[in-house]
Amino acid sequence: MKKITIDAHRIQSMSKDKFDPELLYVECYKCGRPLLWEHGTTTYLLENAGISDLGTEWLLLSSGCPLCSPGQHEFTLTLAKPSTNAQNSNSNYLRDN
Ligand SMILES: [Zn+2]
Repeated sequence: MKKITIDAHRIQSMSKDKFDPELLYVECYKCGRPLLWEHGTTTYLLENAGISDLGTEWLLLSSGCPLCSPGQHEFTLTLAKPSTNAQNSNSNYLRDN
């Protein structure tokens, strides 16, 4: 495995009050693919939904994506908070396979 290094001062740790919504991970709930969209889209969606108090522990789940649901023109997004506790992981973060 090839290793690369980075100087510590180049890494900006995030404080909770400076969370950038664009860093939210977005995944298709149906097929599990990560969803990528234009920069600013997540911020726009959350602002319009009146959601502002998020942190890195959240992720966005889409009801589908153009790859697994071709022909569908709209997808529902759900905010989910996957549990870090292995015993509870299925209750908050289910995937129907
Ligand atoms: Zn999908």
